[in-house]
Amino acid sequence: MGIDFDNIAGKAPGRVAVIGAAKSGVAAAQYFRARGSAVFISDTCSRERLDGILRGSGLDVDGVESESDRHSDKVLSCELIILSPGVRSDLDVLVRASAKGIPVWSEMELGFRVSKAPFLAVTGSSGKSTTVSLLASAMTGAGFETALVGNIGTPVIGVTPNLSGNAVVVAEVSSFQLETIDRFKPKVASVINLMKNHLDRYSCEEEYYNAKLRIADNLTRSEYLVLNSDDVRLSSWAKELSKRTNIIMFGTQCSNNKDCVFLSGNSIHYQFNGSCGEILDDVMRMKISGRHNHINACAAAAIALAGGAMSERIARGLCNFAGLPHRLEYVTEINGIKFYNDSKSTTAESIECAVNAFGSKSVQLIAGGKDKGCDFSVIGNSLRSTVKNIVLLGEAKDRMSSQWEGIAPIHKTVTLEDAVSTAFNLAAAGDRVVFSPGCSSFDMFKNFEHRGEMFRETVNELASRKAC
Ligand code: ADP
Repeated sequence: MGIDFDNIAGKAPGRVAVIGAAKSGVAAAQYFRARGSAVFISDTCSRERLDGILRGSGLDVDGVESESDRHSDKVLSCELIILSPGVRSDLDVLVRASAKGIPVWSEMELGFRVSKAPFLAVTGSSGKSTTVSLLASAMTGAGFETALVGNIGTPVIGVTPNLSGNAVVVAEVSSFQLETIDRFKPKVASVINLMKNHLDRYSCEEEYYNAKLRIADNLTRSEYLVLNSDDVRLSSWAKELSKRTNIIMFGTQCSNNKDCVFLSGNSIHYQFNGSCGEILDDVMRMKISGRHNHINACAAAAIALAGGAMSERIARGLCNFAGLPHRLEYVTEINGIKFYNDSKSTTAESIECAVNAFGSKSVQLIAGGKDKGCDFSVIGNSLRSTVKNIVLLGEAKDRMSSQWEGIAPIHKTVTLEDAVSTAFNLAAAGDRVVFSPGCSSFDMFKNFEHRGEMFRETVNELASRKAC
């Protein structure tokens, strides 16, 4: 008898290929091994590295075969192929698998298929991790058993098989994972924004946006799609998609009689299912700051409402969320000067979000890193009204300095220590030193987490020197 792909939790395939041995791939392999399937893991990393991953994974190696350095035709001897989140769906071997009729699923699709709990799924260009965290906090505060999974760091398949139908799954979904969905049908799906991104992976902007749109592929009148009313492209999608699913808009604009959650002054309001009211009286009660985060809170509230949370029970979760590391994270205060780590910032727009979060002209900005070719001149006006000095470091410093000439005094530095002490020496009590690189980290650090940790360490060392 063939495999019942509609009931993958009931009867597992005899042989499954897992492409990519990162966390999610290993979790998928574990899921199938526990059900008796033979698993073939294929990864392009070196044999030594792959063996290290497999040894540390706790996988029962007897039923696991693996290959390193390539994806060979052995993949095609499997009945089902599962992709780890970072793996390209246009690999040669996958094109051939599809031609042979072998299903290729993202780990998100697999995790969805085996879940009794409904999904609340979020994609977009910026703010996904923050929004799903706010949403998970809101759902928990509203009394739901909540599982936070996906790109935020927890493999979906590691969690969903054990959930009851009363729980909810809050999933951060990347456009890459959406390329290989099939039946994925969240109870609530959201595209929070669309910005130019990942043009290394997609041939054009339109292809990237269309990959995001796939989150709505299977939605019907029984589901909800939550979209950003301030985004022209998403607003036009809303018109089109309202023909087959329920739309809720969020942002700063809301039309009469339409379902929406919106920011008005400092409070968040809703109109949903014929009723309306206030979700949160004052966004300043939230622990995270910045207008972008208040908009993220509107998105989270809209998804929570559609996911079944009562309007009056959402605010507590939004206010309890303390923020994620490396996103405008407060580090410490020295002589009345507050330090913030925004190492996750890798674009000009992220620098803009960071400096605008502090409003008045009180920011000593530290920026720079590996040059990705961003146009930094577009945020000149925001910098002019918020920044007192600009301290630059890294490979991009000369280009940034020429694009920001005349906006504020510019100080070029070589090391992070140098940058931190320069910003500190320029600052007066009441100022904020904000490290928002707007560039990737690979010129000086392993990744953005490493960069943020080094910033924190440098600031804390400065604090202990000043305390002596
Ligand atoms: P993602 O998971 O999509 O990378 P994060 O929540 O980690 O997003 O936030 C990364 C950075 O994106 C933040 O530090 C901030 O600079 C920027 N950002 C967050 N939310 C928004 C938003 N709603 N609009 C624009 N930029 C945002």
